[in-house]
Amino acid sequence: MYDVTIIGSGPAGLTAAIYTRRAELATLVVSGAQPGGQLTITSAVDNFPGFPDGIEGPELMDRIRRQAEKFGAEFDAGEVTAVDIDTQPFRISIGKKTIDTRAIIIATGSACRWLGLESELKLRGKGVSACATCDGFFFTGKRVAVIGGGDAAIEEATFLTRFASRVTIVHRRGELRASRAMQKRALDNPKIDYEWNSVVEDILDPAQNRVTALVLKNVETGARKELPVDGVFVAVGHEPATAVFRGKIELDAKGYIVTDGTRTSVPGIFAAGDVHDSRYRQAVSAAGSGCRAAIDALKFLAGEDALPGW
Ligand code: NAP
Repeated sequence: MYDVTIIGSGPAGLTAAIYTRRAELATLVVSGAQPGGQLTITSAVDNFPGFPDGIEGPELMDRIRRQAEKFGAEFDAGEVTAVDIDTQPFRISIGKKTIDTRAIIIATGSACRWLGLESELKLRGKGVSACATCDGFFFTGKRVAVIGGGDAAIEEATFLTRFASRVTIVHRRGELRASRAMQKRALDNPKIDYEWNSVVEDILDPAQNRVTALVLKNVETGARKELPVDGVFVAVGHEPATAVFRGKIELDAKGYIVTDGTRTSVPGIFAAGDVHDSRYRQAVSAAGSGCRAAIDALKFLAGEDALPGW
């Protein structure tokens, strides 16, 4: 029996674990399929306070995990496959194992969204990727495209210029959504060019088992053209990882957990990080909400009026 089970081990989950352990609650962190979360597949993080020279995402996550371990958080490397949250204590299945817990903090984050093309699915891992940090090296001296116009797309494109001979950002609108600082970085980079107002209709060529070109459609003129590339990186946002809670706690139309602060629709279950935040989605805001979820869980376990002891 745990006091708190934290599902997810990105900045939200690990920060929650630091706080619950500092309050001496028996804490299990189920670290999931991608321990450390999205920051483990990102490159330099320049906007996490305390690192004036920036820090690599994996190193940041390693440091936060070591901090949680130092205070005594237990870790399970499995994935939550089912939850029984109708009665207290809650019961969580991690594969064949089940554990009981008095409170849950859901910090499962989000997973990358794909374009949904058949060719994209067929060529995943064969030139189609959603992780420049993981796969960029394979495109040394080659030409690649990045789909999307947000911060992630710019970050991917900028990183890819280390390897690729040419990086083309394909964006469905005429201007980027990314922050001004990120935009400047990309616009100043001579290796990056743009296909504005363009959507990907198809990725060629599944018959050759490799990427050879994109079929682009200009949404303003309707004109189609082929853009020869050797690889394509999809960076069109994320979907919250809430499948296991569907029908059990309240989710919004996009699948994000509906919260009041960090409280979900089920007393004793709290949410932190991207899984309930479709607006800010930053490492530092996720860490902040992990702290808040831990304090809310602590108050729940102690009775709402009790003085928290973190
Ligand atoms: P995002 O900001 O939601 O941007 C997604 C982009 O993909 C948008 O440009 C969107 O177009 C486009 N898009 C969505 N669906 C599409 C589709 N089906 N076909 C073509 N294009 C599509 O997501 P993100 O870039 O992953 O960023 C997520 C969050 O993480 C943001 O809050 C971001 O600030 C943060 N982040 C920060 C950093 C950093 O500061 N270093 C780095 C990465 C991410 P529209 O613009 O037309 O909607």
